[in-house]
Amino acid sequence: MGSVKRDEEFRTGINTRVIHHKENFSGETGAIMPPIFPTSTFVHGNEGGFDYTRSGNPNFRILESVLSDLEECQFGSVFGSGVAAITAIVSSLKAGDLILCEENLYGCTVRLFEQVFNRFGLKTLWIDFTKSNFQEVISNHKPAMIWIESPTNPLLKIIDIEGICHFSKKMQIPVVVDNTFATPLLQKPLKLGATLSLTSTTKYINGHSDALGGAVCTDSSAWKEKLDFAQKALGLNPSPFDCWLITRGVKTLPLRLERQINNASKIADQLANNQAIKSVRYPFRSDHPQCKLAQRQMARGGAIVTATVKATQPQTYSLCKNLHYFKMAESLGGIESLVCHPATMTHASVPKETKLKIGITDSLIRFSVGCEDIEDLSADLNQALGKIY
Ligand SMILES: *Cc1c(COP(=O)(O)O)cnc(C)c1O
Repeated sequence: MGSVKRDEEFRTGINTRVIHHKENFSGETGAIMPPIFPTSTFVHGNEGGFDYTRSGNPNFRILESVLSDLEECQFGSVFGSGVAAITAIVSSLKAGDLILCEENLYGCTVRLFEQVFNRFGLKTLWIDFTKSNFQEVISNHKPAMIWIESPTNPLLKIIDIEGICHFSKKMQIPVVVDNTFATPLLQKPLKLGATLSLTSTTKYINGHSDALGGAVCTDSSAWKEKLDFAQKALGLNPSPFDCWLITRGVKTLPLRLERQINNASKIADQLANNQAIKSVRYPFRSDHPQCKLAQRQMARGGAIVTATVKATQPQTYSLCKNLHYFKMAESLGGIESLVCHPATMTHASVPKETKLKIGITDSLIRFSVGCEDIEDLSADLNQALGKIY
């Protein structure tokens, strides 16, 4: 897995770097694992430059250095959740600014833009970035920011990050990529020209479904300043304990992901061959509409699989319920397999017409494939699909 990639600044392999961190604040104790710093405040004038945990804490700094290492960039800033990280970025804009958004963004991003920030005068325009006229839209509307996500949720649409960044760079428009589904292990948005790479560390980075967190990585010192300002000014900081958990979780990211991806690609093929399934979406399958782009842009296809079942909404819902190892739940990226019925769960609040416009039908299901034995996951799917007929 692209994991032995090295370059000048990052000489060691990624498997080593996620385990051996540049900073661990273990000091004279020799502790292998970093301590947790549950302190709200620090003595003025300390060597680390800490003053108050809302604006920085050793556990934040450790995690920030691991994440920027993973992303192979200069700066990382951590937040209390993925949504807090989004808030930090957007809070740097002003009333009247326009964000040009991919129409298939994560549901909570849409809600935040449309139900919160638009009351403060922020404007949004939603387009399908897989259509070829995005250059025209950018030139005509001159947005203050471009917001994309690839692969998208839940349809795993692949957006041409490099193409969009190449064009927007000429107009000096910052591009934000929500990289949560791919993780920096499979896709490095900053290397493809993006200004900011955003991750909900709640998902794959932590990987154990026991903490919430968000992070933004960048090579721009001006953006690093804006992000750290937002962290303290808006109170978007994570807790030291959650950062510690996520720092522990990320050590096994390459291992977990390797197994999850192997499982996911087998599940995708199994579903495609099942008569109860109408269609399957998986970025590295040749029947994916942007398969070539996915293979160019990502090291591997990821561990999310989406499928359309030949069934009614109640049948699709019971299929999800009948699975044993795939627990029916929101979220993704943990070691345990999950299944989600977007129409009644993540996208329940989206108006029916919008759902259909972006392709979220009543018979669509999304699998977040975990680390279990493939034979067990496979048997579980077969038994639940068998019940449809
Ligand atoms: C989960 C998720 C978020 C939000 O992150 P939280 O940690 O839940 O606040 C944003 N974008 C994507 C793609 C996500 O999957």
